[in-house]
Amino acid sequence: MADIKKTLKALRSRGFEARYFETAAEAADYLAQEYAGRSVAFGGSKTLEALGLFERLNGTGSVVWHWKQDRETALAAAQQAEVYLTSANAVAETGELVNIDGAGNRVSATLYGKKEVCYVVGKNKLAPDYDAAVWRARNVAAPLNARRFGKNTPCVKGELRCYDCKSPERICRALVTVWGKMLDCERVEVVLIGEDLGY
Ligand code: SF4
Repeated sequence: MADIKKTLKALRSRGFEARYFETAAEAADYLAQEYAGRSVAFGGSKTLEALGLFERLNGTGSVVWHWKQDRETALAAAQQAEVYLTSANAVAETGELVNIDGAGNRVSATLYGKKEVCYVVGKNKLAPDYDAAVWRARNVAAPLNARRFGKNTPCVKGELRCYDCKSPERICRALVTVWGKMLDCERVEVVLIGEDLGY
């Protein structure tokens, strides 16, 4: 059972704003109000999809998502957005945020070029410490994503774990740990939710 209080305290100690909502519906209401009317880009995320945030924010401001719009156009427009909404593959109770990426659009947007970044994370992604967070990102989140994309990789065909494959279809091309709010980013928020969401 994840220690939410400990995680919130650790996140705040690293310069992140941190909030907790019991339900996805409560979190969605908060996020829809908080980011309405802004220039917002979405990273690929089953969590954001489950919250229905694109539909709620679209039309209130400039909202782009390559899952909902023409991919190339949306990815180019995402670079100009002020706010980036995404999830994490794992969050350590010690406050580190871990993400694996293939194309790099998602992790790069969390590191530089945005005024604000917001991570939306279900409780299933919390890990007791940093090593466990990296393990989860590699051995749970990444193989499940490879399965979702139907990749020709050993983690799709075999048991659920990472085989550190050299497949041309490998989706894991970079692993990024965010230790604290990036210096040129005005605000980084982590919204934790007491439900299982995404991978
Ligand atoms: S490195 Fe390869 S085997 Fe490991 S999770 Fe990524 S795609 Fe699967």
